[in-house]
Order: sequence, then C-alpha cells, then structure tokens
Amino acid sequence: MVTAQEPRVRPPIHTPVVAMRAPEPAAEPVPEPSTLEHAFELRDLSAWYGSAQALRDITFDIPKNHVTAIIGPSGCGKSTLIRCLNRMNDLIPGFRAGGHIAYHGEDINGPEADPVLLRRHIGMVFQKPNPFPKSVFDNVAFGPRINGYSGDLRALVEESLRRAALWDEVRDKLGASGLALSGGQQQRLCIARALAVEPDVLLMDEPCSALDPIATYRIEELIADLKRDYSIVIVTHNMQQASRVSDLTAFLLAGEERMGELVEFGATRDLFTNPKDERTEAYITGRFG
Ligand code: ADP
Repeated sequence: MVTAQEPRVRPPIHTPVVAMRAPEPAAEPVPEPSTLEHAFELRDLSAWYGSAQALRDITFDIPKNHVTAIIGPSGCGKSTLIRCLNRMNDLIPGFRAGGHIAYHGEDINGPEADPVLLRRHIGMVFQKPNPFPKSVFDNVAFGPRINGYSGDLRALVEESLRRAALWDEVRDKLGASGLALSGGQQQRLCIARALAVEPDVLLMDEPCSALDPIATYRIEELIADLKRDYSIVIVTHNMQQASRVSDLTAFLLAGEERMGELVEFGATRDLFTNPKDERTEAYITGRFG
C-alpha cells in the first residue's frame, strides 16, 4: 500500500531575525504564578546609585524550578534587579537598596545574612563569557576548591560539565585553557563553573548576547534542561528568547524620572499573547523600546 509521504521538514540553521511582532508563545502549559512555590519574594524593592533611583517599589515572586525572564528596554533596571538577588550590587560604591527580598523565606539583607554564603546558593552567569585564564578543569574546580570540597573533585567536575552540556566537547582537553574554547563553549564552561558549587538558583544576565545563533540555541536548550533542578532568572533584551525559554516574565519600564518599575508580571504566554497593560503590548509589538 502506498502511503502519503510526510513532507520533509528542514531544521532551522539560524534563529529568525527579530520581527516587529509579538513572538510565538511557548508550548508548555501556562503556570499560574500564585500557585507555585517561591525561590524569591520581592516586596517594594527600590534601588539607588547615589541619589539616582534605578528601581521603584518592585513586588513579585520568583518561582522555584521555573525560568523567570526579566525584560524591558535598555536602562530600565533589569541588571540592577537581577544583581539584587545575590547582593552583587553591594560591591558598587554608593549603591543602596530598600524594601525586602526573601530567599526561601529568609531576608537576604537582614543582619544575619551572609552575602558570601548567599552567593554559594545563587550562581551567576554574565553577558560576556568570563572563564579564568586556567584550564577547563581548574575553571570548574575553582569554586569547590575554595569552598574546601572534600569529595571526588574529578567526578564533580565531570558532572558539572555534563550538566552544562559541555562534557562531550571537552572530555579530551580538560587541561587546555578555558580561553581556547569557542564563545559558546566558554559560556557553557561558565555555567559549569557556576553549577560546580551546587547552587540552587542560576542568575543569567543576557547570557547569549555575545553569542552566535547556534551557540544561543545550545544555551537555550540547556536552560530548558536545567530548570528541573534549578530556579533560573534570565535577563534578556530579546523578546523572542524570553518567549522561548521562560515560564514567567516580568516586564520593567523606566518612567519619566528614569527609574525602573514593574509594569506587568505573569505567565510568559499570557504576557505575550494577552498583556494586561497597554505599555506591555506597545513594547512586545515593537511600538517602542
Ligand atoms: P538595564 O539592565 O535594564 O539596561 P541597568 O540596571 O543596567 O538597566 O541600569 C538601570 C539604571 O541604573 C540606568 O539608569 C543606569 O544608568 C543606572 N546604573 C546602572 N549601573 C550603575 C552604576 N554602577 N552606577 C551608576 N548608575 C548605574
């Protein structure tokens, strides 16, 4: 019997050029934010650099084991917000935060809180891959060694590289410099380095903006895999990326006085297909920003 042949589908070799329309929503079921367990609870978070306010009264919850995207135009406070979650901004002279951030119920800015311990639980990956000028192995082993890890370091390095989907590409060159890898591999090496200290949360500040489309695709696949074990917060200026990788999205906007406010937060699919605020709609359809 002759059966009709399925048309051959050619896999895409590049991500589509950003078009001035709302991206396709993710296919997964839409989570209802209020029903999820929280990794972070933000209440009236405000932030200042000296006298200039960068964030104003941000309130929302970041769920556990999901991907939360922070989107908005340049300068609206996305990086400031994500850096508040592991107190990275504390290192900037003149920085000050107000309001409240709870991490698994504990105030991260409270008198008992230790930012160094906090950062062991909350790993971070930056815009530009920044491996240390050390071997692949030593990059991943760096954090565990500093923390006095007493288990099987080789096994931990291998496991971290596997989790970062890099093991197969570097298993034969663990002694080579991390800087000799491609940009996409370097970013996955930085993810492996972050995972090696066995964090609970992964913060990613525009992790693909220095990468080509194929390397970007690998990182996006990896994010989808990692959310089973980690809570992920990603800053991205790429709305299609937010719609592809995230379950929930927070949209920030800087107002007249140039301070970032939360316009809308919700399930990514809802926010991109049925935004509640007309400013969100204007942004996702490319009418400004
Ligand atoms: P985004 O990530 O959305 O581009 P940022 O969080 O980087 O926004 O910046 C928010 C505001 O804070 C901007 O007005 C920016 O100029 C200001 N800002 C960011 N970092 C610093 C800093 N280290 N010192 C002073 N102002 C800063």
